[in-house]
Amino acid sequence: MPFTPTYHDRNIKNLAQLGDHTKIQAVKWYKYLIENKIDVLIYETIRTREMQREYLQQGASQTMESFHIVGQALDFVPVKAQETSWNSYRDSKIKKAISYAKSLGFEWGGDWKDFVDQPHLQYKYKGYGTDTFKTKGDKIILSDTKKTSTSTSKKPTYSLPTGVYKKGDKGNGVKQIQAALNKLNFNCGTPDGIWGAKTEDAFRRFQSVYCNPVDGIYGTKTRSAMLKQLNK
Ligand SMILES: [Zn+2]
Repeated sequence: MPFTPTYHDRNIKNLAQLGDHTKIQAVKWYKYLIENKIDVLIYETIRTREMQREYLQQGASQTMESFHIVGQALDFVPVKAQETSWNSYRDSKIKKAISYAKSLGFEWGGDWKDFVDQPHLQYKYKGYGTDTFKTKGDKIILSDTKKTSTSTSKKPTYSLPTGVYKKGDKGNGVKQIQAALNKLNFNCGTPDGIWGAKTEDAFRRFQSVYCNPVDGIYGTKTRSAMLKQLNK
């Protein structure tokens, strides 16, 4: 099983908002984290000036020249047992992650003397505010990591029996039909391989939406209608 960070979707969403060059480096870093099974939450990247002003007032930041405003910084927190862990920046794995970030050209806020900011990584590129925003925000492809529930290649495949089935029938074929009905939100309870009243009800509800006639008989027509919905 390839490793998927707990907050993967949120991480990708946040990474996608970075400036073009910062994004390239940040994605390299993120891939390294995945390869090494280092779990983090990237909880913030870009900030508006208004947000920055608020952070400044709260003392969470000390400058209006934040690299976040220009899309050249990210904030992350280690994740342990699927929970954020703010005391884990000294863990060996996180230290390794930080060293790698530095090798990619990031400056780490944990190294700062007067205002230690452990979640913070910033990428200077050609200086403050020099990054561009030409790439579309959502174009992040982690090509060498197998992942995402949305990926079509990883969709579970449903097998459906080819014969004819109806109320009173039993067996594995019925079980497959039941699993499919549940998957399609025509709930028939736990698949038990027995076509009883619950299955009959769910099956006819499915037919009433997707088939004609509604005859309570599973055959080639209903089978293909089900497969069509399952593979959507
Ligand atoms: Zn920061």
